[in-house]
Amino acid sequence: LDEFDLIDRFFRRQRVQREDVALGIGDDAAVVRAPADGRLVVTTDVLVGGVHFPAHTGPSDIGYKALAVNLSDIAAMGASPAWATLGLTLPDPDESWLEHFASGFLALAERHCVQLVGGDLTGGPLCIAVQLTGIVGTSGYLSRGGARDGDEIYVSGTVGDAALGLQVVDGTLRVSEQDGAYLRGRLNRPVPRVELGRALAGRASAAIDVSDGLVADLGHLCNSSRVGASLEVDALPLSPAYRRALPGVGWEAALTFGDDYELCFTVPLGYVDDVERISRELDLPLTRIGRVGGDKVTWTMEGEPLSLSEHGYQHFRK
Ligand SMILES: [Mg+2]
Repeated sequence: LDEFDLIDRFFRRQRVQREDVALGIGDDAAVVRAPADGRLVVTTDVLVGGVHFPAHTGPSDIGYKALAVNLSDIAAMGASPAWATLGLTLPDPDESWLEHFASGFLALAERHCVQLVGGDLTGGPLCIAVQLTGIVGTSGYLSRGGARDGDEIYVSGTVGDAALGLQVVDGTLRVSEQDGAYLRGRLNRPVPRVELGRALAGRASAAIDVSDGLVADLGHLCNSSRVGASLEVDALPLSPAYRRALPGVGWEAALTFGDDYELCFTVPLGYVDDVERISRELDLPLTRIGRVGGDKVTWTMEGEPLSLSEHGYQHFRK
């Protein structure tokens, strides 16, 4: 089977057929209809085998995550995802691998009404590049740059689970079978907060998805907004599995490792009630972890300031 047969066989069978796609897979390029009164939001993420995921990760999980990380960026912009392209480099065209990869990718695409409109398949070290385009309407888009003094800072879901998931996968953390399955799932199948991002558009003043770790990503948000912030470590939302592991692993994973793909966002006081309503409607915890203000970003734990070292924050041992 050549490149075209493989694409035809594994990627053309998607169920999503969007009306705004004039020409999809199979031509030199795709043709889509841009919304008359909206804007397009474009993102791309590259995953390299052995760097961004352990080399032995299942192909269905890799396919899922390659799209999920892009959906998460679209979510952080408050946009609705629409069209994807896929650049796939494979050491050898293993049909079973491709079938599972495509099933993980296309099942998540279907859940978010994303149509795969094109791509490229080549030989080489395992590498997956996805480009995803989203649409924002009249409520506008979210960015990292709009936080203002006095805004409340929130994070969705729970943080640190993916970090512990990786420790479970590489054998450095022992937990119960049930907690292990949960934490591995959070690493391999992060849930992009697309509905949350859309609900926050027009309400949140700034947003970012947690891919590099909460401390780093909040730093990016505050830099872009040119604001400081005070954060409370004790307020961070941890899963029951993380809480059970906390005495051994400490807070560091929750603060400095990324890959959770939760949204961190700031909200003017006038919209705090909306955040509580959105949390109920989406059945998703949205936890207040601090406030925008001051001239730098400070973290406290039980009222004590944490000091920053070259290797990240210290004093997580409590
Ligand atoms: Mg991001």
